[in-house]
Amino acid sequence: MAVRYSFECPQCHAPVELTTTQAGQEISCSSCESTFLAPKLGDIKKLPLVGGGEAETGKRRASKAKSGSPVKGWLFAGGLLLAAIAGISGYLAQDYANDLHVPFDIEEVVAKELRSVDEMSPAEIYGIAVGACDESFQLEYREVPYRTQNIKAGIFQNVAWVCWAVGGIGVLMLLSSLFLKK
Ligand SMILES: [Zn+2]
Repeated sequence: MAVRYSFECPQCHAPVELTTTQAGQEISCSSCESTFLAPKLGDIKKLPLVGGGEAETGKRRASKAKSGSPVKGWLFAGGLLLAAIAGISGYLAQDYANDLHVPFDIEEVVAKELRSVDEMSPAEIYGIAVGACDESFQLEYREVPYRTQNIKAGIFQNVAWVCWAVGGIGVLMLLSSLFLKK
């Protein structure tokens, strides 16, 4: 099958397909029926191939780049914006979570109390047993503000993770825009 090159009618600019055998010959346009001379062999070979081949003209390449660049631009700008906003939000949420979090472990406190009981005399243990109800009540009571604060801290910690995940998507967008060809 002969290689076909795309050309356009000088009169009506309708697309015309040319083969190398038509070089320099008189061609009649099927759209406007005017006649024109096909380019010389060397010039025909510089024309873009029908159906898009590697023989692209500068004009075509330029128009292709123009249509590709907005996607790349949007990907780059969007990625940058997303990464920046999510990154800053993630940092703030993490910072707030760290501020709220109180390193208070009720299990650890109880374990410490139990260990010391082993070293006590029966009389001391009795004395502690008398106030045990009050003691445990106080312990629980003391824990409440820490507990709610730590729950809040946990929520903000999760918010920070979500922000960083979104920021990660932004970074991926940014990177993919850099690797995107034209
Ligand atoms: Zn024509």
